[in-house]
Amino acid sequence: TEAHIRAMEAKRDLNAYITETADLAREQAKASDLRRQAGKAGALEGIPLGIKDLFCTKGVQTTAASRILQGFKPPYESTVSGKLLDAGAVTLGKLNLDEFAMGSSNMTSAYGKVTNPWKSTTEPAKQLVPGGSSGGSAAAVAARIAMGATGTDTGGSIRQPAAFCGITGIKPTYGRCSRWGIVAFASSLDQAGPMARDVRDCAIMLGAMAGHDPKDSTSAPMPVPNFEAALTGDIRGLKVGIPKEYRPDGLSDEIQAVWEQGIQWLKEAGATPVEISLPHTKYALPTYYIVAPAEASSNLARYDGLRFGLRVEGKTLDDMYKKTRAAGFGAEVRRRIMIGTYVLSAGYYDAYYSKAQKVRRLIAEDFTKAFQQVDVILTPTAPSAAFGMDENTDDPVTMWLNDVFTIPTSLAGLPGLSLPAGLNASGLPLGLQLIGRPFDEETVFKVAG
Ligand code: GLN
Repeated sequence: TEAHIRAMEAKRDLNAYITETADLAREQAKASDLRRQAGKAGALEGIPLGIKDLFCTKGVQTTAASRILQGFKPPYESTVSGKLLDAGAVTLGKLNLDEFAMGSSNMTSAYGKVTNPWKSTTEPAKQLVPGGSSGGSAAAVAARIAMGATGTDTGGSIRQPAAFCGITGIKPTYGRCSRWGIVAFASSLDQAGPMARDVRDCAIMLGAMAGHDPKDSTSAPMPVPNFEAALTGDIRGLKVGIPKEYRPDGLSDEIQAVWEQGIQWLKEAGATPVEISLPHTKYALPTYYIVAPAEASSNLARYDGLRFGLRVEGKTLDDMYKKTRAAGFGAEVRRRIMIGTYVLSAGYYDAYYSKAQKVRRLIAEDFTKAFQQVDVILTPTAPSAAFGMDENTDDPVTMWLNDVFTIPTSLAGLPGLSLPAGLNASGLPLGLQLIGRPFDEETVFKVAG
């Protein structure tokens, strides 16, 4: 813990943490020592972790990287962070993210950008984004200023930053982890998951985070398997789906090459690649950008200047709402609220929201059919390596394209894991994604491991 606190303080230029809790970490480490001496060590005893600042932490400021939550100290602990503490973990602080987890670059945070610790060997002066929205989590793990971190993933926010920072992260099946106490973005998509240095660490962390929670009616009443035990190294006979729709025209050579390499590795280990079709893939992005903003506009209605954080006084109640929300929300969040309100409004609901729900069903059915043929699916995680802070940022739609490979999995509620698969010609990490059947994280871990 001391070593991690020193490293965290030495690497503040990355801006990975919004709030450091070094004193709390020291207290937790002392209590952890006592438990260990008493022979009562938990699965994560004494392991220093960072917590994405979207998880409510009792008595510790929780911002969602938004000005609107400035100064909000939750009187309760989220189920997932509470479970990590129960397993003996030490918490170093709260990690930066895109505001309300909306983004793919960590550039929408009200607390400033996060820098990717990786540097391009061909353009060493260029500052790279860590990906998003869990960019602080990915950067902290990659820079060794946390042994692991929590992330959340609504459309790719664990997997894409894991790929950009050369670490491993898994979005479990929707319902595997409780959402209670996590600031809501799009409730039918949001899932918590671990981000860590390798597959084994993710398996151990997920074991501690997962499980049914009566406080979240969408958390699944399913037993939590021993994920680590799935890492047998034996994948002989498994069938690995390679979806042809994930090879769009214009997919870059380096991404195709890393994907081919992944297929090769699995073949050598005794698995069989099988070409599959997920025909509705091209509708996933437009579907997501209706469903997610719709749910966000509803979830974010609660920030009214009365209940949480920021308040800007106004002449009337309405005036106070307007001033508070105008001052509290950043541009990307406002964009999502406007799109969401539009697609849910009378006259547009059927044309957009209701249609998107139907297409979402078709996307999920594509996967159900594919999984009659294969045990797991292999794809790239993202269409590129980490990009520069001044690239891709002007046009929101270009930014949204980052999630083409991760969003279909989210709409279908399936587990998806990203793991590092090599470096590109500029020495930057590239990730591969493994997608599994619902609640079959074990096969995903087995193949990844
Ligand atoms: N980048 C996607 C978005 O901006 C996904 C974010 C997420 O998974 N939280 O909505």
